[in-house]
Amino acid sequence: VSRPLIVVVDDDVEGLDRVVEELRRRYAADYQIVADTSPERALETVRDACDRDAAVALVLAEQWLPSTTGIEFLGTVHMVTPEAKRGVLIEWGDAASTAPLLGGFSFGRFDSWIVKPIRRPAEEFHRSVGELLTEWVQAHGPTLDAIRIVGDRWSARSHEIRDLLSRNGVPFVFFDRDSRDGSDLLDRVGISNGPFPVMELWDGRVLRDPTTRAVAENLGLRTAPTAELYDVVIVGAGPAGLAAAVYAASEGLATAVLEPEAFGGQAGTSSLIRNYLGFPRGISGAELAGRAYQQALLFGAEFVYGNRASSLSRDGQEFRVHLPDENEIRGRSVVIATGVSYRRLGVPVLEALVGSGVFYGAASSEGAAMRDRRVFVVGGGNSAGQAARHLARHAAHVTLVVRRAGLSETMSDYLVQEITRDPRIDVRPRSEVVDGEGAGRLERLVIRDRSTGRLTTVEADALFVMIGAVPSTSWLPIEVARDDWGYLLSGSDAAHGDGDPSRIPRGLETSMPGVFVVGDVRHGSVKRVASSAGEGAAVIQQVHEYLRAHTSVASVEHR
Ligand SMILES: Cc1cc2nc3c(=O)[nH]c(=O)nc-3n(C[C@H](O)[C@H](O)[C@H](O)COP(=O)(O)OP(=O)(O)OC[C@H]3O[C@@H](n4cnc5c(N)ncnc54)[C@H](O)[C@@H]3O)c2cc1C
Repeated sequence: VSRPLIVVVDDDVEGLDRVVEELRRRYAADYQIVADTSPERALETVRDACDRDAAVALVLAEQWLPSTTGIEFLGTVHMVTPEAKRGVLIEWGDAASTAPLLGGFSFGRFDSWIVKPIRRPAEEFHRSVGELLTEWVQAHGPTLDAIRIVGDRWSARSHEIRDLLSRNGVPFVFFDRDSRDGSDLLDRVGISNGPFPVMELWDGRVLRDPTTRAVAENLGLRTAPTAELYDVVIVGAGPAGLAAAVYAASEGLATAVLEPEAFGGQAGTSSLIRNYLGFPRGISGAELAGRAYQQALLFGAEFVYGNRASSLSRDGQEFRVHLPDENEIRGRSVVIATGVSYRRLGVPVLEALVGSGVFYGAASSEGAAMRDRRVFVVGGGNSAGQAARHLARHAAHVTLVVRRAGLSETMSDYLVQEITRDPRIDVRPRSEVVDGEGAGRLERLVIRDRSTGRLTTVEADALFVMIGAVPSTSWLPIEVARDDWGYLLSGSDAAHGDGDPSRIPRGLETSMPGVFVVGDVRHGSVKRVASSAGEGAAVIQQVHEYLRAHTSVASVEHR
């Protein structure tokens, strides 16, 4: 088997030699390293490898090449081989590269910038290269088929199972039931008629159309609580719930965390979170969630997977969080971290371009990168209006795509006035985005006129989708007060909700004493990964205060 390629291009021979020597010292056993001073020849090498079906793992290009820039070159490489990871090489202290790098990175033109090695051992250089190669191996390296699945590729349940496993980082291979591999597997396990999907585990166990809980149990995850009573029950394991779990468990509280789907919540579906403190190149939501999950687990938090809280009741000093199978978890306090569900456009081409020109709720962090770009915002509410105003400060032009005849029914009047007066914003009423195109990044959108049905294709660099979010609170009793949209009130907003005129809830406490709320599901929350994690960390101090004030017995003995 030929080794995957690492291709390096730099017209400066000394710089090229430095990079190639470091690469050969560390990676020559597993990768074939090809160096060139000419971008044209390097591109030929990449094309030739693709024609031969040889894998290209990584392409590194100096930013300042004679005929082009590294960013442009890597954009072309992406069209030839979208799988290859791409790094821009810069010299230490090259301030002129900063502006183009920032713009290019926001649009997904490359995956990382790497400072050329300046000392030995060149660990900073190798850490950057190693991260890119790790990502490449995870996505395109030899598959670990710990689980083999056979089903109908386009059936909803097959999709759900694949989504569940990949969001939880479980390696698997999927075979269509009509494929040769699929029918071989079915013959081997003696199943011909389903029900599908059929899963074969690494040790020979076979599951037929398993429920999410059955999958979890077979993977060794806990699906029922082990203790009679916990100090705190955290409902939801997105960033807010995971942070609360880390802080609660590390501070000695007996902690249970309920999660029905995947650790990481919405953040787990984000391919690259760029604004989380400490990760300048960004971090995938799944990776961040995986790390936080392990951290909470190591501190002793107990995760009870595959369970959606279906109701909550108070029983004296205790709470009961009820589960759909008539089971329950008992806690002396509860932290609700159930987040929101963002409405998605549901256009597969555009979903594949999330982070490469298509953004959900990221207008403020991406604003500066929109300089001179053609930007579209979908949505007619205040958040879409604010996003359009913010983006218009930087973009060449912003088009607001709305389904209704105008904005007045759904947007505050002051915003409608501002948008009408802003020459850089156009409103496209009675319209919806139905399709898109782009090789590696968004290039065009297809917009349908809802009155005439006419389809128009427009050039577009970025699309911001702001079509609303629904908080996950319908399972809670009415004693837990919420706003008109279902978000939970906390602190002074929730005062007197429990009928006690003298009680002011703590900052993150709801109208039901002992029940706290953190993250996106909280009224007035910022709706970011970092703020959710921050609230998750902060709430535990308030839980301690509540437990000290309201319960006579010491903390439940920590297992
Ligand atoms: C595609 C996408 C990209 C994003 N990119 C960024 C970004 O780059 N930067 C950024 O700062 N923010 C980003 N966001 C927003 C960010 O992900 C959220 O602000 C953050 O995840 C909120 O965290 P949370 O823990 O409050 O809620 P969530 O992440 O929504 O987690 C809630 C969890 O609760 C669980 N749950 C729901 N109901 C129940 C129930 N009844 N019982 C038990 N569990 C339940 C859910 O399964 C889920 O796991 C993005 C969001 C999306 C959708």
